[in-house]
Amino acid sequence: VTRPGPAGDEEGQSPGRVHARNLVLGVGTEPYVPEPLRPLAEAPNVPVLHSSDYLEHRERLLATGHVTVIGSGQSGAEVFLDLLRNRPLGAEGLHWLARTPAFAPMEYSKLGLEQFSPDYTRYFHTLPEPVRDQLVPRQWQLYKGIAHETIDAIHHELYRRALHSDGWPGAVLTPGVTVRTAGRIAAARLELHLEHTQQGTRARHTTEAVVLATGYRERPVDTLLAALDPYIRRDASERPRVEADHRLVLDPVIKGSVYVQNAERHTHGVGTPDLGLAAWRSAVILNSLLAEPAYRLPSRTAFTAFGLQPSGRCDTVIGGPHLPDQRGPLARTRT
Ligand SMILES: Cc1cc2nc3c(=O)[nH]c(=O)nc-3n(C[C@H](O)[C@H](O)[C@H](O)COP(=O)(O)OP(=O)(O)OC[C@H]3O[C@@H](n4cnc5c(N)ncnc54)[C@H](O)[C@@H]3O)c2cc1C
Repeated sequence: VTRPGPAGDEEGQSPGRVHARNLVLGVGTEPYVPEPLRPLAEAPNVPVLHSSDYLEHRERLLATGHVTVIGSGQSGAEVFLDLLRNRPLGAEGLHWLARTPAFAPMEYSKLGLEQFSPDYTRYFHTLPEPVRDQLVPRQWQLYKGIAHETIDAIHHELYRRALHSDGWPGAVLTPGVTVRTAGRIAAARLELHLEHTQQGTRARHTTEAVVLATGYRERPVDTLLAALDPYIRRDASERPRVEADHRLVLDPVIKGSVYVQNAERHTHGVGTPDLGLAAWRSAVILNSLLAEPAYRLPSRTAFTAFGLQPSGRCDTVIGGPHLPDQRGPLARTRT
């Protein structure tokens, strides 16, 4: 790396500019709002916010007559639960809408979690692109579901409210619903146009506030790498091709390497943003950068043998020193 020099105006020496042989990008994710919901976020006077801003607006939402939460991941569930617990009994004024066919639990079985292991990541990387593209959306319950405890707490609170009021609580929970369009209809009211995919029905829904628990997406690296664009090799869907060691496939004319972390779900699968794999990912990248590997990495990390070996033999013996942690394959972190 060339540090900025005192002169400050030579090529590569001006303040804020450095030279590097290689680059590792780890720019993370940002709150995501689906296209049909974007006009909502621009609605003046009406609280429409992403769940990442929930705590800042919580008091205002608790005082609003009717609130709709969109999204059935962990964030949506926690926001819904907090509103439910803190709004008046019998006058909850809450709607929880989700596109998923059910308010479903997150996959948390120990063998299920082995899909967040280096072994699975390596296996996923070897699959053909169309297979990988089909797999990721089907694995939504691995990372988009709700913790069992949160589902239990929501049901418990609804049940408690039903017991202590005259009837059903004023909270409507509807899965399988897509928001087609949305907009403001009065000074402080919003209208959502909904579609139930299984039923094939449509309805209008009015509310006074919306919490968009619609998740996070990888920050696009295209802008950062605009100058390299002609040299980046892409797949059939125009996404950068990424090697197993997280290195972008570049035209050989480029001598340095560019590595990405958390921008390679299409090539490395659901474990891409997982914190439990962060240390392994970083070690793979560092080993790839250095002439001699600095980190000894286990050749096997899961009890499941993903895929068949070309020989057809499935009788590999587990190596002693690298047995997975008792709590799970990589003692996966989950909040
Ligand atoms: C609400 C929530 C709950 C989660 N829970 C879990 C969980 O329980 N278990 C789990 O495994 N994972 C969980 N995740 C996912 C996990 O937290 C993230 O995938 C992980 O933190 C991402 O780490 P990262 O280093 O890739 O990116 P980040 O931690 O987002 O860091 C990216 C950094 O890059 C900086 N940056 C961005 N753009 C630029 C730029 N142009 N120039 C310079 N710097 C830039 C940002 O400011 C930031 O500091 C959760 C994520 C969220 C949002």
